[in-house]
Amino acid sequence: MQSVRLNRLRGLMEQQGLEALLVTNATNRLYMTGFTGSAGYVLVTGQRAVLLTDFRYMTQAPQQAVGYEVMEHASSPMDTVRSILGTEGLGKLGFEQQDVSYGAYLAYGQALAGIELVPTDKLIETLRLVKDDTEIAVLQEAADLADRTFHHIAGLLKPGLAERDIALEIELFVRRGGAASTSFETIVASGERSALPHGKASDRIIGSDEFVKLDFGAYYKGYCSDITRTLFVGKPSDKHREIYDIVLEAQLEALARIRPGMTGREADAVAREVIKRHGYGDYFGHGLGHGLGMEIHEEPRLSPTGNIILEPGMVVTVEPGIYLPGFGGVRIEDDIVITENGNRRLTQSSKDLVVIS
Ligand code: ZN
Ligand code: ZN
Repeated sequence: MQSVRLNRLRGLMEQQGLEALLVTNATNRLYMTGFTGSAGYVLVTGQRAVLLTDFRYMTQAPQQAVGYEVMEHASSPMDTVRSILGTEGLGKLGFEQQDVSYGAYLAYGQALAGIELVPTDKLIETLRLVKDDTEIAVLQEAADLADRTFHHIAGLLKPGLAERDIALEIELFVRRGGAASTSFETIVASGERSALPHGKASDRIIGSDEFVKLDFGAYYKGYCSDITRTLFVGKPSDKHREIYDIVLEAQLEALARIRPGMTGREADAVAREVIKRHGYGDYFGHGLGHGLGMEIHEEPRLSPTGNIILEPGMVVTVEPGIYLPGFGGVRIEDDIVITENGNRRLTQSSKDLVVIS
C-alpha cells in the first residue's frame, strides 16, 4: 500500500520538478506511511522515503511505516531535514502550503538556509481523492455502523428527551460498535432548531409535532461516515410533509443522476433544480455534498463552485436540505461511491419519513 502511494506521489513530484517534499500534515503523514503516531515529518525524495519522529515512537513507527526509513529527528527536526538534503545534494524542498503557518515557514527558512522552499498545493490530497478498494471497504463498514446507529436511535427517540441525551447515546453506540469517536460533533436539532443547518445538540427537550434532524457519523479505522435523517415526532402537517417530500425528491434525483464525468457543480445543480422548481431555492443555502474519507470534509465538493470532475472511486455525501426559519428544516444525507457507470450508496437507512407518535 505504502509503495503504491509513494510511486504515485513521486509521479506528481516529477511533474512539478520537485526533488524533495516535506509532508507536515498529520492526515497526509498517516495516508503516506500508515504510521498512527501523533507527531512526525515525512521527507520524500526521488531515492529516499524517510519518516522522522521522536523517541516515543521509535518502536511503533518502524512496524507501521513499511517501506520507510525511520529516523529519530534532532530536537530541532529541521536540522535533520537539512542534513538529509545535504547528503543527497538537494537544494530545493517542497512544503505543504495549506499546512505550514507563516511562523513555521519563517522558522524553516532559518533552519534550512540555502535551501529553496517551494510551496506545493494539495499533492497528497489529490492522491486521496480516489479511494482504493481497501479504503472503500473501510468506508462501507463506517457507513454500516452509522446505519445501525440510526436504527438504534430511531427506536428510542421520543418527546421529553434532551437533544444532548440523544447525542450522547449516538456517541456510546458508535464507540461500542468499534469507532474511535463520532466523525464530527453530532447534530441533533429539534423543532425550530431543525432550521439550523448545523444545530449542534443542545439542552432543548424534544417536544411534539416537530422535526428532529440527526446528523452524525462514525470515525472508524481511520475513516469517516456521515449520515443525516430527519424524523418527525407527533403528527406532521401538510407543510412538514411537503418540505420533507421535496428534499427527498431532490436527494433521489441526485442519486439517480450522479456519475463519473460530471463536475461537482453539475451534481449540485441536479438537486438544486428540484428544490428551486418547488419554490424553495432560497432555503437550500449550502452545497449538495462533500468528499469523505480520512477527514469528514474533503474534496471534491458538490457545490455551485465545485470544479473537480467526478471519477470512479471518489466518495462523496449527497445532502440536500430545506431550512425554514421559525418553522423547521429537513436534510437527508447519504454517502456514495462513484462507480464506472453511476454511483453506489454506502449508507442504506430508509428515507421514508419516520413518524414517532
Ligand atoms: Zn452530515
Ligand atoms: Zn456531510
